[in-house]
Amino acid sequence: MATGQGHIELAGLCKSYDGVTMAVDGVNLKIEDGAYCCFLGPSGCGKTTILRMIAGHEDPSAGEILIGGENVVGMAPVERRTAMMFQSYALFPHLTVRDNIAFALRVRGLSKAERNKAADAMIEKVRLTEFADRLPAQLSGGQQQRVALARAAITQPRVLLLDEPLSALDEQLRVQMRQELLRMQRDLGITFIHVTHTQMEAIALADMVVVMDRGHIKQAGPAREVYATPRDRYVAEFLGGQNVLAAKVRTVAGGRAVVASPTVREIEVPLAGRSFSAGDAIEFAVRRDDIVLKRPGPDAVAPDTAALSSRVTGVEYQGSFVKVMLDALGREDFIAYVPERTFFRDPVAIGDVVLATWPVEHAHLLA
Ligand code: ATP
Repeated sequence: MATGQGHIELAGLCKSYDGVTMAVDGVNLKIEDGAYCCFLGPSGCGKTTILRMIAGHEDPSAGEILIGGENVVGMAPVERRTAMMFQSYALFPHLTVRDNIAFALRVRGLSKAERNKAADAMIEKVRLTEFADRLPAQLSGGQQQRVALARAAITQPRVLLLDEPLSALDEQLRVQMRQELLRMQRDLGITFIHVTHTQMEAIALADMVVVMDRGHIKQAGPAREVYATPRDRYVAEFLGGQNVLAAKVRTVAGGRAVVASPTVREIEVPLAGRSFSAGDAIEFAVRRDDIVLKRPGPDAVAPDTAALSSRVTGVEYQGSFVKVMLDALGREDFIAYVPERTFFRDPVAIGDVVLATWPVEHAHLLA
């Protein structure tokens, strides 16, 4: 349930620390009230800077930040009703779980009894009741994270800002805590803005994924949209799971371009309403899990299927699927994810010549 106050709008947001380089460069974005939004991008792309500007720990060089329709630029952090949860959790080592959480309410002028009552209600929400009297050092990493989350949420912020909240945890706990974060976010109904450089984390959690590159937003939208229809090569490669191919247009007809004529079948790419002429360079993506490997033969390829003759250069068992590396169109990083049962019905080996095939309509044109 959303609070009605957590709608965020960033308009022309810029930040330069040295007056020259733009750490954040003209960011425009709307985040729905009660949404789980993940900023995703490599180190140094400006994610944390945006978070710090929303929280009020950093002033923008230009632009507006609206929370619940109100421009908060220039407001003190506490007036913004945002809360931040840090990577290191920043818990007070000498305070118990209850006192760590209640501490956040000190500035509110509540009595100790009132603070403890509110803290206990929050402790129950994050399922830490039996640990209320322990010190942070007596908790696991996941439990410490829940304390940090409770401490941030108890002030009833409109927006909760999380900077790499899972990076201190080991892999198994990270996956478990992802679900905890999502549950907490749904329970609290607060807008969450979570910064990460891990694509699986963003995809698993976010209602809205925002992919960043050097201070710019490259693409923002629902996780599935960004993953399945990346706008350009950068997004496709950052999100992963795609083969990105560059080719020259040979002919155009019926809304498709023929980009290569290998021995088996012309490779066609749907043009999605865009226009190209012979000789134009295009880039397109084909999902690794859309590739079906076939043995070469007269009936190997169904209609409306692209087929690329390729040689197997590597095979990696991954459990539920097998990763097959292929040398196709002169590239060595063309990859097929073959479901493991399918793979073992007719396993391919390094050196085999196979056809990498995919439904023509599944090729996705990039900008
Ligand atoms: P990371 O994932 O490593 O935290 P990030 O995407 O969050 O990276 P930011 O921390 O926002 O990136 O940094 C964006 C750019 O701004 C970087 O080039 C960084 O060096 C620079 N920067 C960040 N903070 C400061 C600062 N206080 N003074 C000067 N430059 C800074």
